[in-house]
Amino acid sequence: MDLKDYIRDIPDFPEPGILFRDITPLLANPQAFDHAVAQLATRCSDAAFDAVVAVESRGFIFGAPLARELGKPLVPVRKPGKLPADTHSVEYDLEYGSNVLEIHSDGITPGQRVLIVDDLLAIGGTLSAASHLVEACGGEVVLLAVVIELLFLDGRSRLEGRELVSLIQY
Ligand code: IMP
Repeated sequence: MDLKDYIRDIPDFPEPGILFRDITPLLANPQAFDHAVAQLATRCSDAAFDAVVAVESRGFIFGAPLARELGKPLVPVRKPGKLPADTHSVEYDLEYGSNVLEIHSDGITPGQRVLIVDDLLAIGGTLSAASHLVEACGGEVVLLAVVIELLFLDGRSRLEGRELVSLIQY
């Protein structure tokens, strides 16, 4: 199965000049969604990690079934003001605009090895910020995983040498 068949291109969203890669056709097809999660599980299974961190919002869609499939704890990284307990917080640049992300300070315990999951790598600010949140908790980021990688934006260069798995590249 070619997962690219289930990604829809939306020109000029959310701003003129941006070609948005839309995963909703993939989510709408149970076989394609199952294939994507299974592929992530296979590609990540060689790394030794203790927990899965998923980034709001679309990272939740893939991170939650992946954590369940792998039998690992699931820890959310969320937009500001959503997490009820003490948090670490980080501000970062997006491909379009800027954003703040938070993690519960006790979401990751010191020394825990972590896989971080999101739907897409663009310029890398989101996964870099999520990595810094895990490290602020004392965790170690052993692997990053996305469904889609936009190669032409060279997001990997923002990831400070951290290893990345991607299922689809443009
Ligand atoms: P980055 O921080 O620039 O790497 O952007 C990645 C984040 O922006 C991810 O959380 C994505 O959900 C979102 N994003 C950026 N571009 C797209 C796109 O074309 N399709 C879907 N999500 C996108």
